[in-house]
Amino acid sequence: TFTPSAALQRVQPSATLAVTQKARELKAKGIDVISLGAGEPDFDTPDHIKEAGIAAIRRGETKYTNVDGTPELKDAIIKKFRRDNGLDYATNQIHVSTGGKPVIYNALLASLNPGDEVIIPAPYWVSYPEMVNLVGGTPVVVKAGIGNRFKISPDQLAAAITPKTRWLILNSPSNPTGMGYTRDELRALADVLLAHPHVWIMTDDMYEHIVYEGFEFATIAEVEPKLYDRTLTMNGVSKAYSMTGWRIGYAGGPAALIKEMGKVASQTTSNPCSISQAASVEALNGDHSFLEARNAAFLRRRDLVLEAINGAEGLIAPTPEGAFYVFADCSGTIGKTAPDGTMINNDTDFCAALLGAEAVAAVPGVAFGLEPGFRISYATSDEALVEAGKRIQRFCASLR
Ligand code: PLP
Repeated sequence: TFTPSAALQRVQPSATLAVTQKARELKAKGIDVISLGAGEPDFDTPDHIKEAGIAAIRRGETKYTNVDGTPELKDAIIKKFRRDNGLDYATNQIHVSTGGKPVIYNALLASLNPGDEVIIPAPYWVSYPEMVNLVGGTPVVVKAGIGNRFKISPDQLAAAITPKTRWLILNSPSNPTGMGYTRDELRALADVLLAHPHVWIMTDDMYEHIVYEGFEFATIAEVEPKLYDRTLTMNGVSKAYSMTGWRIGYAGGPAALIKEMGKVASQTTSNPCSISQAASVEALNGDHSFLEARNAAFLRRRDLVLEAINGAEGLIAPTPEGAFYVFADCSGTIGKTAPDGTMINNDTDFCAALLGAEAVAAVPGVAFGLEPGFRISYATSDEALVEAGKRIQRFCASLR
């Protein structure tokens, strides 16, 4: 028999991937499943970015590169941080890896010792606590309920900080809620952090460019420059440029941390794909006008989903500022019974019964650390979303 390592025994497999897999199985059986589980844009990578990748292959850029990013890509990232975020980083403050996920992992592995605490606001992106567990740290989950629009308050942050706190992870706009912290809200969190100089901040800005109705994205090192020396500002090309398969993520931060993250990469992944790096240079430096039409489509879909959810018995969802997720509270369905006799005791039951009765796949809130609720990804067609909305409403109306 095979016994997994103690490190892996601390880790849960990805719940979002599990839902997607279950939906795929039902589809294979011929069932018309609408999968609202996936965390990737349904748009294609823009042509000018693809062409840059093809050109890199033609130029023979098919060999090892610097372990933590080519000089060209680091330059493009430095310009991006300056242009979009008013942040100045030098080349030795930039780390590039094989996606946003490994950037975070490299930073955690480079910094955490057993017992070190990482404050993670919930609902959280599923990988944060599991990556902390994997490297032997201790996740400290701070629940932000629907009453506070799924955002933590300064008081909650202050109460969660201990002498063992190493990091606070911020993610705005958020996966799974789509909520964005305003500049003022970040300012208030920064004021708490200024009083605790031992706490570092990892800010996951992956959804920076997917924002709606004039929401002004801000990142904490820009809002409070005194936090610059202990902030890792992380971002990537996966979501904004529909480049999930190219696997490029990056961060800017203190040189001493960045150096150690490079050491991790040098003994694990080595460099991210040379071709993807060339394409990412074009993504960051090139034309961004395609974003407008894509965000308009996302906004239309967001509103379709919100209307369906808020018109369903027992469900409620606040309006997100960005990303392509809606997080619905389903407290009003708990304790009810589905027509097939299934009792809805929690959000896992709700999602399973919804999938069984109406073939709509969504991810239960428990996977994101806040129950009872579920996440809908609306990175799919308007038609699928309209149909899913009808099915969800029918399902909720059928509960007794
Ligand atoms: N951070 C957040 C909040 C995400 O939603 C995702 C993707 O799901 C990532 C990071 C990871 O992105 P990548 O695919 O570049 O590893």
